[in-house]
Formats: sequence, C-alpha cells, structure tokens
Amino acid sequence: MDKITKTAALPESAREFGFYVDGAWRGGRPLFERLSPGHGVPVTLIPKCTVEDLNEAVAAARRAFEDRSWAGLSGADRAGVLLRAAAILRERRDEIAYWEVLENGKPIAQARGEIEHCIACFEMAAGVARTLHGDSYNSLGDNLFGLVLREPVGVVGLITPWNFPFLLLCERVPFILASGCTIVAKPSEVTSATTLILAEVLEQAGLPAGVYNVVTGSGRVIGQAMAEHPDIDMLSFTGSTAVGRSCVHAAADSNFKKLGLELGGKNPFIVFADANIDDAVDAVAFGISFNTGQCCVSSSRLIVERSIAAEFEQKLAEKMTRIRIGDPLDEETQVGAITTDAQNDTILGFIAKGREEGATLVTGGTTLEIGGGRYIAPTLFSGVGRDMEIAREEIFGPVLSSFHFDTIEEAIEIANDTIYGLAASVWSQNIETALTVSRRVRAGRFWVNTIMAGGPEMPLGGFKQSGWGREAGVYGVEEYTQIKSVHIEFGNRAHWIK
Ligand code: NAD
Repeated sequence: MDKITKTAALPESAREFGFYVDGAWRGGRPLFERLSPGHGVPVTLIPKCTVEDLNEAVAAARRAFEDRSWAGLSGADRAGVLLRAAAILRERRDEIAYWEVLENGKPIAQARGEIEHCIACFEMAAGVARTLHGDSYNSLGDNLFGLVLREPVGVVGLITPWNFPFLLLCERVPFILASGCTIVAKPSEVTSATTLILAEVLEQAGLPAGVYNVVTGSGRVIGQAMAEHPDIDMLSFTGSTAVGRSCVHAAADSNFKKLGLELGGKNPFIVFADANIDDAVDAVAFGISFNTGQCCVSSSRLIVERSIAAEFEQKLAEKMTRIRIGDPLDEETQVGAITTDAQNDTILGFIAKGREEGATLVTGGTTLEIGGGRYIAPTLFSGVGRDMEIAREEIFGPVLSSFHFDTIEEAIEIANDTIYGLAASVWSQNIETALTVSRRVRAGRFWVNTIMAGGPEMPLGGFKQSGWGREAGVYGVEEYTQIKSVHIEFGNRAHWIK
C-alpha cells in the first residue's frame, strides 16, 4: 500500500479555469484553490462567481431558449450535436479522467470507465432527441381532434455534487439538451473542472451560445440563488436530502419552479441463504467500497440470512482487506481518497459512533497513511441495532452495517425501515424470493444478483426522501418537458347563442 506507482504526473502548478456564460469564457473573480484529495497538492483554481454572474448566465440561457436556436432545431439536428459531443468526449477521455481524479480522488481506471458511460449517455440522448414525441386523440368526436405535445420546460438550473462530478453531469446534460431546454450548471465548489471542460466540448460540437452555461461557486451563495431564481423554470438538484429540502422551500417561495431531486440513500443489500455466496460477498465488498462509499447507491446496509451470517461476514471481511487502496493516479488502485476533509471527519465520526453504540467492528475503522492524502479502510460493523446512528444515517463512506434476518418478511421489513428509497439489491437463486423482494422493497433502482449494473437506457431516481423525478433514458428526457394539450375543431361550430 505504501508503494506508489504513478502512471500520470501531478500538474506542475494548479490549472486556472474561467467560467462560461453565453458561449464565452470569463474571469476576474477571486479564485478557490482545490487540493488533490489523493496527494494534498494544489490542482485547480476555480472562480468564485457572484450572484450577478448567475443572473447573466440565466439571462443568456433565457435568450437562447426564446430565440429557438436550440429548441427550434429538429430532433435530428439536436442529435447531431450530441453525437459530435460523444465523439469529442471519446477523444478527450483520458484528459477529462485526469482532472476528475485530481479533484475528486477516485482511481484513474474508474474515472476512465465513468467517461465511457458518459459517452453512452450522449449517444442514448441523441436517439431520444429524434424519437421524442407526444400523442394524439381522434376519439373526441368527429369535429374535434386532440394533440398532446411535449414542449421543453425552458431554462434548467443544474446543481451537482462532488462524488461523481462528470458522470452525474452527463446523466443529466445530454437528456436535458435532447428535450430542447437550455442549462445553467453549478458544479460542487470542490469538483468544478470537468463541468467547465464540458463547455469546451459542447462548443466544439456546435452547441449554440447560451444553451449551456457554467457558473462556479459555493452552494450557499450560487446554489441557493439558483433555487430562489425567478427565471429558472426547473431545477435539477443532486445532493443531500437536507439541501434538497431547502430547494423545495426556495422553489415554493419563488416561482414554483419544477424540481428534479436526486438525494441520499441508505441502500439495503439483502442476501438469502440460497444465494451464490461468493458472488454476493464480492458484490457487497464492491458495493460499499466503490468510490470510497461516497456513492448515493452504495450498498450500505447488509441484510443477511442468519443461518449464513457468520460465514458471510468472515468471507466479506477477508475480501475487504484485499481491496487495493492507494494513489488515485496509480492504474492498479481500486479505491482512492476521501474527497473532502469534512467528509473524512464525518466518516470517522460515524465509525467512532458505531463503536460507542456497541456495534462490533469486524474489519477496517482506521485511516491509512498513503502519500499526502486522506484514506479510510473499508469498514464492516456487525451486530448493528436498527436504532443506531450507523444503521439510519447516510454515512457516505466505506462503512457497512450488517443486520441478520430469519424470514423473508423480516428481510423486507428491515430493508424498508429507512426514510430513503434510492436503491436496493437482492441475492437469491430462488426466482420467487427475488421477485417478491424486488416488488416489496421501496426503492427507485433495484438489482437482482448484481449491483450497480445498468446503462443510460435505465431511469435513475428515488422513492421516499431519496427524491422526485427520474433522470436518464427516455424518462430522463420527458422529465424536462411539459405537456400541452392542443384541441383543434373543424367543421361548423354548434353555436352557443342560437
Ligand atoms: P450537498 O447537498 O452538500 O451539495 C450538493 C450540491 O448542492 C453542491 O453543488 C453544493 O454546492 C450545492 N449546495 C449546497 N448548499 C446549497 C443550497 N443551500 N442551495 C442550493 N445548492 C446548494 O451534497 P454533497 O455533499 O455535495 O453530496 C453528497 C450528497 O449527495 C449525499 O447525500 C448523496 O447521497 C447525495 N447524492 C445523491 C445522488 C443521487 O443520484 N441520488 C448522487 C450523488 C450524490
């Protein structure tokens, strides 16, 4: 773990970025210096924009929406831009992965894989741009014909978190663009680089000026102003449930903007005794450690049948100690650094709390000294009580709590015992068990004998306090449209006043 083989060098100095409004780069704002989570050295300098900058970006997005330079194109022309963007992303994959790693701390090989998924999102959205359609009714009588149109919502504000800065962006941007909307994006203040690089890609792909704008800065200032903005028609917010709630209040107190919310999760991973145990062990080790557990769909609650629980936990602990944790720029690394100091403290605080509350620490629970970064060993707690904080709160780190059950009813009840409903997974070779659990557990994404599988065809989103609406797939384009009913009368009118 202490032997670090870098395959890419750190930048010699921090790269300075501008922000992007109406097809032009701007600067001259105070800069936020971002240190690489894996190395502790400065990597980027990001503008702290003002609310006036945001207002100008919203005005540019409004003009670009109203002038029909994007919404007025055919689906085929919009698809052309999205496909060109996909091709450019393919060429620039390694460069984008590099900046993602430097700001986020995730392993380089993982980052490249994520960008492949981003490319697929652009290609998928291009297909939907061409096939998006409404409906018609010829059942309204001989003189009346009904059309149901899907129109773009308008100017979309897009607020994203730091855990998957580029992936989450690309699970939204191409689908929003496919609908004909225009965008003002605000990335997390600590991971803004790749959201800005996407502006270069889209410009190169031929996106008209003003359709995609990026304003950087803090959530408290810029994010809050977006949520309150009277000229943003829809806000797509991905982040914590607490901030999601504040966006609901801000929308209600401003212009009732439409909201898409993708929030937290405390996701159950349910294993029955008849499962392929070795596969399930591997999948849960991956599910809790991937992206250092800073993953909204991470498998953070293991719910395992009591008859196999001891064997399962022992095999799992053994696997968790073999995960290759290290320098995110090392090609061999599977798990990188914790993204922020604050998140590091939060995770360590939950580990301490788990011990205090009497859960049994099976493995992990410690920090690791690697380079100048922040690293935490994948951690397993057994004997976790359902009321303990580590059982109920989203930790957003590599900390797994294990619960035991005797019956399928009990497994479902434990799985649903949370305010969240983002994702869930069931492991069983019995089709009845798998189907019963997948229908009864309340979650927006469900995996049977697999974890985190998918593609841009599949919609993403949560039940309960995990959010509103869906992103990606056909659903992810429809989400950014609103329905208009057009009634067309023909023939002579039956007069009201005879
Ligand atoms: P966060 O809520 O603190 O921040 C998310 C974004 O909101 C950032 O861009 C931030 O600057 C901005 N923000 C902060 N305060 C704001 C305010 N008052 N008004 C408007 N915007 C504001 O979340 P985070 O710490 O960046 O990310 C972690 C959380 O995100 C976790 O809870 C995780 O589950 C959730 N998440 C959910 C999904 C999903 O798809 N459901 C995906 C990734 C992360």
